[in-house]
Amino acid sequence: MMKIRFFGATEQVTGSCFLLDTGQETVLIDCGMFQGSHATFMRNYDAFGFDPAKVDHMILSHAHADHSGRIPLLVNRGFKGRIHCHAATAELANLIVMDSAHIHEVEAGWRSRKNRRKGKGPVEPLYTTADARTALKKLERCGYRQTVELSSSISFILHDAGHILGSSIVELDIRAHDNGPGKKIVFSGDLGRPDQPIIKDPEFLTSADFLVIESTYGARHHRPISDTKEELADIIRQAAKTDSNIIIPSFAVGRTQELIFYIRELMAEERIPKTYKNIYVDSPMATSATGIYENAVRECYGEEALQYYDNHLSPLRFEGLHFVSSVDESMLLNMTPGGQIIISASGMCDAGRILHHLRHNLWNENSHIVFVGYQAEGTKGRKIVDGAESVKIMREQISINAKIHTLNALSAHADSNGLIEWASAFSPAPKLTMVVHGEKEQAEGLKKRLKEELGFITTIPQMGETITLV
Ligand SMILES: [Zn+2]
Ligand SMILES: [Zn+2]
Repeated sequence: MMKIRFFGATEQVTGSCFLLDTGQETVLIDCGMFQGSHATFMRNYDAFGFDPAKVDHMILSHAHADHSGRIPLLVNRGFKGRIHCHAATAELANLIVMDSAHIHEVEAGWRSRKNRRKGKGPVEPLYTTADARTALKKLERCGYRQTVELSSSISFILHDAGHILGSSIVELDIRAHDNGPGKKIVFSGDLGRPDQPIIKDPEFLTSADFLVIESTYGARHHRPISDTKEELADIIRQAAKTDSNIIIPSFAVGRTQELIFYIRELMAEERIPKTYKNIYVDSPMATSATGIYENAVRECYGEEALQYYDNHLSPLRFEGLHFVSSVDESMLLNMTPGGQIIISASGMCDAGRILHHLRHNLWNENSHIVFVGYQAEGTKGRKIVDGAESVKIMREQISINAKIHTLNALSAHADSNGLIEWASAFSPAPKLTMVVHGEKEQAEGLKKRLKEELGFITTIPQMGETITLV
């Protein structure tokens, strides 16, 4: 009897981890980290709920940490198989998982020192960079629309999910042992918003016996991207009047490349003044990610990006755009009182070089701070967006006088209409659709629409739940 078990991303966005059991073999789809508050993060230390040593294969849908971040733990705790993913996902996962390991080591060191002063024992990192390196050796690269045989009875095909570079929809084909009809199970992975720059739009699939679908924005609608581009142009025009700094806390993978692309377009369309001669990307991780975005296999690129490459240009380089590498160079940016656009990480302002840019600009009423992504509860970014009067940065209380903007529509996820449109391509409807990767309200919103508009039979799996696929 074929079963699927849910060990993360149940009525929540993070921690994707689904175990398919064909009765003969097991395949794990994603092994992501729980992210958000400290309490949520601590759940990563818990047992998986299954024995990693008994998992035969793993498929990684894309590189984001909420899908890849527990891979080193999986390997540490006994997983012996290979981890299949798109070639671009492997490149990005190397970057993201190593970065995550580094952060765990630094934080554990910091907490251990704090504990020692209190007479308490040391804190173990979730995993080390050495663990991550060992685990990442298991990555096995493949391309889109290629049939990969995992065994005599299981094969899979990755389709472009249009979410970030290398992101994949996973189609699994399970053959019956008695030569009877097989079963097709489709995992949507994270589905992209159409018309994102550089990458392609999500592919539509038409057949599945069972579907597992994400619901990050299952009940929400995005404003058109052209509105957001105009908002960004407007902020830049405003700031240009006073020759002020524009500071953009951004996520290193995906969002930063999208911003670079839009700023380039706004310049080419002469919709922003030429005041900003220098635009800096100040995050080593964003710089590495941009390199990966530029050097991916051709099948990853949308038509627009391909036109650049065919003319021997990169859509992510232009005159005036600088990638800052050393810490000294980064510090030097703070000596310039205005007239620069600085894109830096982390996106939620909890760590990284963005902190010193905020320290030098938040107090200044002429500076503009532009938030371009979701700010989780408890983060510095959330405090600033929520209108705090001051915020503590590097042990110093900084007044917030700068102009604060939020561009929420820059999302790498399909909205409610996008998800419904994608699901409507399945004909006939899957026998059962399982809604994951969305907070309760979003998952329920999508479930309702799938049922009412498409007649789908749906369920929202709970943590640890086993669903028999018949
Ligand atoms: Zn994602
Ligand atoms: Zn995700």
